[in-house]
Parts: sequence; structure tokens; C-alpha cells
Amino acid sequence: MSISTSVLSDLLQSLPYLRPQLYFKASLTALSHAMEDQVLAATLDQPLVIASFQRERFYRQEAHRYQRLSQRSNQIYVLAAPETDFSNSSGYYEKVAFEPEDALSQEWHLVVIADNYATCLVCRESLGSITKNQQVPDWFPHLEMDTGRRFEGIWTSERGVSIKAAQLLLDRILVYRPELASKVERVCQRFGIGDRNSNKSTSIIAEYACDIDTDPFVQRLVTYLQASQYKLHKAYRSIAAQARKERLVNSISTAIRRSLDPHQVLQIAAQELGQHLGASRCLIYRAQASDAQATIEHEFLMPGVVSIYGETWELKNNSLFQEVVEQGEGVCVSDTVNDFRVTSSPTLSLIVKKFGVRSWLIEPVLFQGRLLGIVELHYCTVPPHQWQQGELDLVEAITTQIGAALIQAEAYANLEVLNQQLEALDRTRSNLIAITGHELRTPLSTIQVCLESLATEPDMPLELRQVMLHTALDDSERMRKLVQDFLTLSNLESGRVEWHPETLTLQECVDLALSRLKTRTTTEKPPHIIAEIAENLPLIKADGDWLVEVLAKLIDNACKFTPNQGLITINANHNGDRMVEVTVADTGRGIEPNRLEVVFDRFYQEEGALRRTAGGTGLGLAICRQIVNGWGGKIWAESSGKDQGSQFHFTVPIVQGSQEDSRSKVKKRGSRE
Ligand code: ADP
Repeated sequence: MSISTSVLSDLLQSLPYLRPQLYFKASLTALSHAMEDQVLAATLDQPLVIASFQRERFYRQEAHRYQRLSQRSNQIYVLAAPETDFSNSSGYYEKVAFEPEDALSQEWHLVVIADNYATCLVCRESLGSITKNQQVPDWFPHLEMDTGRRFEGIWTSERGVSIKAAQLLLDRILVYRPELASKVERVCQRFGIGDRNSNKSTSIIAEYACDIDTDPFVQRLVTYLQASQYKLHKAYRSIAAQARKERLVNSISTAIRRSLDPHQVLQIAAQELGQHLGASRCLIYRAQASDAQATIEHEFLMPGVVSIYGETWELKNNSLFQEVVEQGEGVCVSDTVNDFRVTSSPTLSLIVKKFGVRSWLIEPVLFQGRLLGIVELHYCTVPPHQWQQGELDLVEAITTQIGAALIQAEAYANLEVLNQQLEALDRTRSNLIAITGHELRTPLSTIQVCLESLATEPDMPLELRQVMLHTALDDSERMRKLVQDFLTLSNLESGRVEWHPETLTLQECVDLALSRLKTRTTTEKPPHIIAEIAENLPLIKADGDWLVEVLAKLIDNACKFTPNQGLITINANHNGDRMVEVTVADTGRGIEPNRLEVVFDRFYQEEGALRRTAGGTGLGLAICRQIVNGWGGKIWAESSGKDQGSQFHFTVPIVQGSQEDSRSKVKKRGSRE
């Protein structure tokens, strides 16, 4: 006999009128159990029982039942493909270990034959039933992988069919266990197995065992089917819950993906989470581990529940928040009325009383261990809410998403700032190229031409020599100024400047700035300048050298952009706060309203770097802004428009508690240059 043949095929071949049916695994398990129980319950005299399991592990689940069955009969045969210690042996019953390649490893058989009773189950597993089943997702919790397995075959109580099935299986048993020949022979003779007469009769008439009560069998079968149905029901319930959870996590993730606005993300999360869990209140707020308080920024509310939106929430004295921070995980209070953590804390008791919180969950929003915020769920219900593990898992999953979203939004914001900085850098770079092209190259070539002429033309008239030398000197001075301004600005911007704040009077600084101006403007007559600094102005606190620098640059600009007959006024006032406001105003060409801010950009010049007329580097106001910001002040420009004059204002901090007019305390200062 070839072991590759199927018992089912052999049976169908010899009894062609049989029509196989399809059975799910759960049905076969129920049927087999009911058949075995029937043997245990009915008074059958030494029945023949043959059970063929596909694998040893399936047999092992049933081994205890077969031990009980062995008390009913000495003709019990159990077949299985060995996996560990299942081997051919005789014990309580006969064990037959068939080859794994045997077609039996695809089949499931149970045959019971007694004098007054016979039944058999002969089935073969449908191909592909397992592979289809592998599509079950990982999280699928209760259904085992093999629920979808299907078998085709025969289940019947026809005696003839049962006898034929027994014969086929006994033949197979003898292949593996030839030493059982005489035992098998005895049982065959007893029940007429392999008997020609018996064969003939089975092919024509179906004989049913009818003298034993089959009612308990049906009862048992129904019980087994009910049990497997219940298992399925439970599994579907958990699938539905899981699917709901997936949908919620999905909808929040989608919202997160759609929006880079953290406010929107948190609002959606609070709404969805609160609604899904039927909470009275869902709060989301940003908080860091060391924060003393937080403001409730996002809230979901059930109708009729008191809102906490916009309230200041205590964190430092909130022992639940501190517990969350220490443990790095959520804290859940089932009933605030009975929880010692709440009842022993005045802060928490107050919150509970004021906002009617009965059940409370505080879940941290973390990213790589860093606390970003908190999600709170409140139930203000009686009786208190019973927290389910599924709910806690869900809240945790959502807060993980929120954490990622917040970090994503933060990274995006940083990126925007970085981008702006990069753009500014790029502008500076192009300006620098333009200015080096013009500001440096032009004077350099002039200097070169002048010096070359002086060197190659020894007969040049003295007057012309003087002109050449002056031009070369003027241009090298312009270059020096540009390089110096550029270095000053980069030092200020990169924070490489040391500040020496001291107590000063503004008058003294203005005087110094004006004296510097006089030494520089030798050729052109500057416009008239009036300095009106009130005598009772409070003392100011700033680095004197830098303050003189700001004043000098502003006065310098005012002179440059105001005709000779114009007027420049310098005044200052103290309007009560901690700053003195200084103004340098002129009656010159003015500034267009949309240029009032950009004039402070590096290299900004109204004419553009390449068409400069008034001289200068375009760095003066940028330097002034850096200096003023350095002492915490502000600088800004005002102008009514073209040819309407301009006013430059800046603020300097006053000395705290300084008496008005304390001129005598100030030492005399020297100029920076
Ligand atoms: P610059 O070396 O060109 O003066 P600044 O940074 O000091 O560089 O000034 C930038 C630009 O702002 C000037 O080129 C000019 O267009 C404008 N500006 C500055 N001060 C005045 C003023 N008092 N009146 C009109 N325009 C001014």
C-alpha cells in the first residue's frame, strides 16, 4: 500500500454514492468531541475506536479524553504524525506514528464501531485553507490562526460506511504496526470488517444503529457549537473595538498630517478623544516637567459640564501631575472620593470640588522622554467611571501621536525661522558682493591709477600731483570706513563685543558725538545743529563708547541727507518708564513710509549700493540697531515722506533710582577714535 493515498479518496472510490461535504474546523472539533462523549456515555461493549490526528500536537490536546476512552475499550487506535515523543507503542491504547509524508497528515478521522452502534468522520483538509487564513492581521486577538481551516469529507452513522472506513484505517495501521495483525484480525472478525458480505450490504443499503439513545449526542454537539460560537462572538467584539480604535487613531493622525498648526492638532485630538470615550471633559495643555502652572488651551466638554478653558491649572502643588512626571506614564484615579492621593491634597480636593471630577486620567504627552504636555480626561458622573485597559491603551496611543505632531510642528516652525535666517544671510552675501564690487573696487582702482601716474610721470605739475594724492587718500579712507563698519557689525552680530555699562549723562555723549562730527566734516559746511537736552534728565546706564557711536552715526546721516540750509535737532525726554528716548530729527529728504523699517537692514541704501551718491556703507543703521538692542532699547525711524525730514528715535535705560541732574558723578569721557 502506498502511503501517499488518501483514506477519503479510497472510501469515496469504493462507495461512489457518497457525497462529501464541506466542514469548518470548529464544526469538526465539535463533532469529534460529541462522538467521543457518546462513547463515554453510552453503554457500548468494547467498541473499536480509531482516531487519526494530523499532528502530534492536535492529539496532545485530546490525550486525556483518550485515556478515559481506554477504560471503555481495549480496541482503541490513535494515529498522528510525530513531532516530539509520539511513537509506535502499546499502552492504554495503540499509538501509531505515521510518516509525515503520509496522506494521513492532511486528514482527520474518527471511527467508532460497536455491536449496536457505528459512526465515522472521514475528512481531508482543503488545500489553501491555511494560506488564506494568514491574511489575518497581527493584532487579531482571539481567533486562532486556524479558524478558517476547512475540510471536505463524510460524517455519517451508516454502519456500512463506518466499517469500510475502519477497514481502510486498519490496513494503514498494519503497514506501520504489522505486529498488531492478530489484534486487528480479532476486531475485524468481531465486527465483520473486511468481510465480503458486509461490503456488499454497505454498498446497497444504509444500516443505522438505532438501539441507543442519540439525544445526548445532539445535546453535546449543540453545546460544543455554542461554545465555539461564543468564542467567535468574543473575537468579533474585540475586532470591532479594535477597528473603532484604529479609526480614531487614524482620524487624529490624518488631522495631524493635514495640519502643521499645533493649535488645530490639539483641538481635534481633544474633541475626538473626549467624544469617543464619552468623557465629561477632555483637556489638553502644554506643560514642561518643571512648570509651576499651565493654562488650559484645549477642551472638549459634554453638554452641561463646567468649562475649564483658559483657567490656570496648578502643576507644582498637583501631586498627580508630579507623579506623572516622576513615573513618565499616565496616572488614573478611578474614584476621587475614595482616593487618598486626592483626599489628602488640598489642591486636588479643591479642583475635584470646583469642577466635579469623579474619575480622572492624566496622561503625559512625551517625546523621547521629554514632557511636552498633558492630556486629561474627567468623568463627572455618578457612579464613577470604570476605566477599561482598552481605553487606557487608546489614550496612550493618541498621546503618542500628539507628541509626534507637536514635535513636527515645532520642527517646522524652527525650519521657517532657519529659512528666514538663511534668506537674510543670502541677501547679505549678495549685498556684500555688490558692495565689494563697487565700494572696494572703485576706490581701489582710483588709488591704483593715481599712484601709477605719480610713479610713471616724474614731470607731472605739482598741482596735479596734489590732486592725485588727495584722491588716493580720500578713497583709501572710504575703504577703511567700510572695512571697519563691516567688522564692527559682524562683531556685534556674533556677540563678540564686550559691554561696559556705566552711569552717564546724555548731554556729555551728545557733546562727544558732535565733536567727532566737526573733526570729520572739514570741507563741506554741515546744516545747523541744535541739541536740546533737558538739564533734569535722569542719568542713563549704557556703554558710553557705543552710545556715542550711535549718536554720531545718526547725526552723520542727518547731515548727509539734509541740505546745508536745513536744520538738525537732537533732543531727549523721559516719559516716566525706565527708558530715556533720544531723537535726532532733520528737515532733509525724508524716508518713504514703506522704507522706515528696511533702512535698518544691512547694506540698505535708498539708491542701491551701485548708485550711491551720499557716501557711506549702508551699515550705519544696522550697527545702531545692534548696539541699541544690546542694552535692551529700541530704535526706529519716523518720517512724513519724501522731502518731509526724518526723525530717528532710540531708547536708553536710566539708572535705577537715579536723581535728576547728577552730572557731577560722571567722569569725563574720551572719544573712541
Ligand atoms: P549709509 O552709510 O548709506 O548712510 P545707513 O545704514 O546709515 O547707511 O543708512 C541707510 C540708508 O537709510 C541710507 O542710505 C539712506 O537711504 C537712509 N537714511 C538714513 N538716515 C537718513 C536720514 N536722516 N534721512 C533720509 N534717509 C536716511
